[in-house]
Amino acid sequence: MRRQDDCILYQRSTGDLMSEQKLLILKNLEKEYIQGTARIHAIQHVSLEIEQGEFLVILGRSGSGKSTLLSLIGGLEQPTKGSIILNGQELGQFSEDELAILRRKEIGIVFQHFHLMEAMTAIDNVELPMLIAGLPRKDRRPWAIELLNMVGLSGRGSHYSNELSGGERQRVGIARAMANKPDLIIADEPTGDLDSARGAEIIDLLHDINQKNGDGSWAPTIVMVTHDVGMLREGMRVITLSDGKIQSDEIFDGDYERFDPLGNPSVVTGVSYNSDNPAVQDDDETNLNIS
Ligand code: ADP
Repeated sequence: MRRQDDCILYQRSTGDLMSEQKLLILKNLEKEYIQGTARIHAIQHVSLEIEQGEFLVILGRSGSGKSTLLSLIGGLEQPTKGSIILNGQELGQFSEDELAILRRKEIGIVFQHFHLMEAMTAIDNVELPMLIAGLPRKDRRPWAIELLNMVGLSGRGSHYSNELSGGERQRVGIARAMANKPDLIIADEPTGDLDSARGAEIIDLLHDINQKNGDGSWAPTIVMVTHDVGMLREGMRVITLSDGKIQSDEIFDGDYERFDPLGNPSVVTGVSYNSDNPAVQDDDETNLNIS
């Protein structure tokens, strides 16, 4: 099994990234939860390949399995069946500790509720993952300043969380997610705590980061969960989920009318991911799938 030295992260070059075509491969994923006597099939028969540099949106109603799929992609949860291969490494082979090291280096996480350390300034929040990953002190501050500039917070580094607006806090959260230059950033409803204008700004920022990072040398793949069609941007790859299954997989062409406000895949008329598996017409809001 490959265990990486902390330094490798900071030595990675664009050329290295470009040569690795598939960032992530999901093969026949299943995720079941047991709740009392009920078995909940949160994810069913999901296979997916994500290329370096993609911006993938997982869209679906509440209970459709979006967060579960994102947790599997981010190595935060283990599948009941199937395999997840990140940068050629099968996650199932790793112990919990090894997975934690891998996540720290290769995956950045943006949370709906920001999860900033309240007792720390914005810049210290951004530096924290670098500290944990062992980046030398002399390198941490300049990179944190650069990251805060990148997310539009230059000069705000000395502010504490309670001195920042929701949108600014999420910008710090995004800068923190980029701290260790991860190949992958996962974001679960990153605009869920923001008004629509601030939310749109955050999406545009993530989109920019995905397209081209500030110094041009590194741009993360982004996988984002949302139930809000308004958060789609042209060129994003959109996967719709229903009952834990992929219903469609297409590049968003800017036509918002084809999705209902909750991303209900039953109205998606784009290329169907699996023609044997027509979109579910169920209007049940919770969409529980219990056997
Ligand atoms: P979404 O993010 O689309 O709202 P989730 O992935 O959170 O959906 O949930 C998918 C299904 O799995 C739902 O039926 C939910 O109740 C169930 N579920 C999610 N997490 C757990 C858990 N830890 N234990 C039991 N059931 C869960």
